[in-house]
Amino acid sequence: MIDLADQILKAFASMSIEQAAFWLVVQNFLQFAICIAVGQLFVIQFQKYPIGDRPLALERREVLLALTCVFLNSVVAVMGWLMWKHGIIQIHNDVGWSAMVDVVVLLLLMDFLMYVTHRICHHKLFFSWVHGTHHLYSRPRPLSLFVLNPLEVFGFGFLWLLVLSLYHSSWLAIVVYLLLNAAWGTIGHIGVEPMPRSWPKIPILGRLSTSTFHAQHHQLQNKNFGFYTDVWDRLFGTVHPPYRDSLDSK
Ligand SMILES: [Zn+2]
Ligand SMILES: [Zn+2]
Repeated sequence: MIDLADQILKAFASMSIEQAAFWLVVQNFLQFAICIAVGQLFVIQFQKYPIGDRPLALERREVLLALTCVFLNSVVAVMGWLMWKHGIIQIHNDVGWSAMVDVVVLLLLMDFLMYVTHRICHHKLFFSWVHGTHHLYSRPRPLSLFVLNPLEVFGFGFLWLLVLSLYHSSWLAIVVYLLLNAAWGTIGHIGVEPMPRSWPKIPILGRLSTSTFHAQHHQLQNKNFGFYTDVWDRLFGTVHPPYRDSLDSK
């Protein structure tokens, strides 16, 4: 596994920009397909626990925005590859405890920065022409994770590349972070709740956000801005008060 990752890194280091772009586009569209497929499985599996009304019929605009987002994510990945090649982003090979620390640091740092930027994006100066696109659909479905204004895709991408250029992480932590980011994003947009009612009351684990948490943000817009956790919303008083009691009873 470690050898395979080492070989992949070496292969990426020796690729031309065209070859790297090809594989990063393939990786992004593959991840997109997996997120939609897994999200849809959750929708079917937990259909007894809807969070709100079912999504309306799929629109052509939603699909186009999502496909554009996946393509632009690939552009961001190519920019990250270039920054890595030029030594602006540096990664290390540790796979032990330091990699686990890196995962926690990346998650906490990105969670805080995304909370702050998300709140800024809801300011009337930015909402209509940046973040409003993601809120066009108040009844999320797995595809909604990718329904973003291109400016927002680049905004998140640049934030991520900035963090990577300031914090030297292990390759394993970057892979784990990206997998968790995709998983959380998917869970946040399935429109059904797989977690038990007691989830938000569980110490520590309960701070991880649920599908309900983000679905309520789509419904209310001015509450639940966090992405991975509800920590910053609790701290800054933006958590939806009935959130603790709003998970479906099971
Ligand atoms: Zn959303
Ligand atoms: Zn929002």
